[in-house]
This record gives sequence, C-alpha cells and structure tokens, in this order.
Amino acid sequence: MAKKILVSACLLGHKVRYDNGDVPCLGPRFLSWYEEGRLVSICPEVVGGLPTPRPDAQRQGDRVVTGAGADVTEPFRKGAEAALKLALEHEAELAILKQDSPSCGSLFIYDGTFTDTIVPGEGTTTELLRRNGIKVYGEDQLDEVERELAQADR
Ligand code: SF4
Repeated sequence: MAKKILVSACLLGHKVRYDNGDVPCLGPRFLSWYEEGRLVSICPEVVGGLPTPRPDAQRQGDRVVTGAGADVTEPFRKGAEAALKLALEHEAELAILKQDSPSCGSLFIYDGTFTDTIVPGEGTTTELLRRNGIKVYGEDQLDEVERELAQADR
C-alpha cells in the first residue's frame, strides 16, 4: 500500500490560516501524491480549538503567544497531539508542513518578537512529530520527500 504523508491543510487549499487564507501547493509531485491518495491533512491550530481567522501567534521558547500577549500554548499543544495521533493512525512516516508557521514550520519560524524576523527553528507540531520519529519537510523540499518515498516504497 502506498505510504501516507501527513500534510498541512492549508497546503491542500483549505482556508484555515490565521488570516482566513490558504497557500495551496501546486507542485506536480505534490498533486500526484494527492491523486494517489497519499495525503492526510490536518490544521493543528484549528483542531487544537482556535478559530479562523485568529490572531497571529509566534513561539517564545516553549510558549506560544499572540501579538497582543495572549498565551495560546495549550491549543497549539492539543493540535500537535492531534496531528501526531492522525499520523500514527495512518502510519505516516513523512510530513510536508507549511514552512515558517509556529505550528508547522520545519526549518524556520518567526522569532517571537513580532518584528517580521525569521530564524532557524521548528513549530510545535513539527517538534512533536520529529520527537516521535516522523520526518518533517517543508513544501519547498519535495525533492527530499520524493527520495524518502522512493526508499519507503521499496
Ligand atoms: S497551523 Fe499549519 S495547517 Fe494550519 S494554517 Fe497554520 S500552517 Fe496551515
């Protein structure tokens, strides 16, 4: 059976981002994995209980806060747990998550100062998935995903 891949719902065109938008990934390989039925999607922030639209939030160490200073760590934690549960249910060993997000970022995130500054780091969902052995890539790393899939399908 084709290996499943956990993906950020906004990459599949679901309007779940904080600003009510989406960021569809239109790469031909991503679309072919969709057509093959490999993609399992989730928006950790929405599943964690946050509304859409919602205030922009950023990580500050182990906490996640909005620009107005509200602590949203708990819904982010719940969303990460839900994403891990979904990945395990589908035996997904790979994930393609939206880069730069405080939940889904895998190489970079905003630095917590709300000054539009991006730094190396990972979102709360990415961190939990990786701690449980799931390989997480951004939507700009489909070459790496393709290599991993070729090995997994062997
Ligand atoms: S939490 Fe992840 S899936 Fe949800 S909108 Fe943000 S980047 Fe997309």
